[in-house]
Amino acid sequence: MTNTPGPGPAERCLVLEPAEGIEGWFIEKHAPYTGHVYGVKKTIYKARTPFQEIAILDLHYYGKTLVLDGKIQSSEDSEWIYHEALVHPVLLAHERPERVLIIGGGEGATAREVLRHRTVRAVEMVEIDIMVYEACKRFLPEFHGGAFDDVRFSLIVGDGRRFLEALAGRPTYDVVIIDVTDPLEGGPSYLLYTREFYEVVKSALRPGGLMVTQAEDINTQPELSVPTISIYRTARAVFPIVRYYRCWVPSFDGEWAFVVGSTGPDPAALTPEEVEKRLKERGVKGLRFYTPEVHASLFALPKYLKDMLENYPRGFVIEDGRPVYVYSGS
Ligand code: SAM
Repeated sequence: MTNTPGPGPAERCLVLEPAEGIEGWFIEKHAPYTGHVYGVKKTIYKARTPFQEIAILDLHYYGKTLVLDGKIQSSEDSEWIYHEALVHPVLLAHERPERVLIIGGGEGATAREVLRHRTVRAVEMVEIDIMVYEACKRFLPEFHGGAFDDVRFSLIVGDGRRFLEALAGRPTYDVVIIDVTDPLEGGPSYLLYTREFYEVVKSALRPGGLMVTQAEDINTQPELSVPTISIYRTARAVFPIVRYYRCWVPSFDGEWAFVVGSTGPDPAALTPEEVEKRLKERGVKGLRFYTPEVHASLFALPKYLKDMLENYPRGFVIEDGRPVYVYSGS
């Protein structure tokens, strides 16, 4: 019998060992009795802005990570999963997306993905917090990948809702991507998840236009899934076609959801052949997550999730006067 060495004690209990190079622990609380703990290699940047608290941390396993108000926004290890999943299903569902609006998206990775499509002639990004943009530009260049310097890109510093309201219903965009922070009570984004806001987004879309929003995490316990269920039901109160999809994002410690509201095309109806054809025609290259097969799989929902989305009684249509909030951790 050969004596194959098994994992040493440090490998078996990696998380419990006082590993070398730990500056401290970062705990993201998801709900009053649960959360995720990350070992911090190094704090790269920290600041308080008029809107939120920013931290850029280097985390063991997850790499450079943007944290706003104690919530992970994206990490080097898997930001590409989140951003490819957010952008490509809607962009490919549109026959010819030329003008795209991003609301939020301070890291620049959403813009990076949009700019892969050569049909796109203009990407405007409305970000409320110039300090997030500046910190990401400086410390997270891999995330924007040069998008901020693309001639098709422009930055507008301001509130995404006010920006769209100022369009006063002029159909302007083929696709609107809402990549804002979680709806925290007193935070800058909770009014970007309401029925009234989705009405404004719809009025800014050209015929056949689509919007997509990040739609929070999914848990098998429905009481922890009220925000995601409610975002879905709110989009359904406004758009004729609504699709819910999700993918696993390791640094978010779970499955993340996205909701599409469409005035015409149905992203769930795109065949793998059509996805392949459009990717080629548009010259989309360099993807690490999204493929024609993955497109189809994103929209396949397990039974418990469908039941929860349709039937959980505490899910509701979010309104300005009745917002949804996620747990702040304090
Ligand atoms: N991927 C992220 C997530 O779901 O956790 C979102 C990332 S992105 C960094 C979020 C951005 O939305 C932040 O930079 C924040 O400043 C911006 N934001 C929040 N509220 C906003 C608003 N009302 N208008 C425009 N941008 C907003």
